Amino acid sequence: MIVAAFIVIALAVFLAMEWVAWWSHRHVMHGWGWAWHQSHHEPREGLFELNDLYAVVGSVTAIALFAIGWATGSWWVYAIASGVTLYGAAYAIFHDGMVHQRWPFQWVPRGGYLRRLIQAHRLHHAVMSKDDAVSYGFLIAPDPKALHAELKRLRAARRSQP
Ligand SMILES: [Zn+2]
Ligand SMILES: [Zn+2]
Repeated sequence: MIVAAFIVIALAVFLAMEWVAWWSHRHVMHGWGWAWHQSHHEPREGLFELNDLYAVVGSVTAIALFAIGWATGSWWVYAIASGVTLYGAAYAIFHDGMVHQRWPFQWVPRGGYLRRLIQAHRLHHAVMSKDDAVSYGFLIAPDPKALHAELKRLRAARRSQP
């Protein structure tokens, strides 16, 4: 019974993390946290970028959750920590590895949902500045056509500003 509940909580947290990632990307990384995130919207020199500090923050959060689970002996805190860790792993594999090719081999999906995920994130990177970007989420990738239209609309709105 606890095993089933553990899996349900971990999966729910995994899904909720997509919203957390969207929100923090939209409001923190493209807000007061832009100083770190800017490096991710510019060409990278070397292996690391300042933006990687967000991954460190995420990892420390997951480790702290595991520590709380261990200290309190609560299995559901472990379940939450597992969901957060799972999302972090998926983000590292798909965002850093697949989209930005930071893994040691060359592989780009030719079609399907993974292709769409790459297109949606590339459209996020079409904007080099803090404002007017689209597609802040990650694992939920909107239709690239819709993102293109939104990007166009934002650019037009920017141009019409005095
Ligand atoms: Zn961004
Ligand atoms: Zn990116």
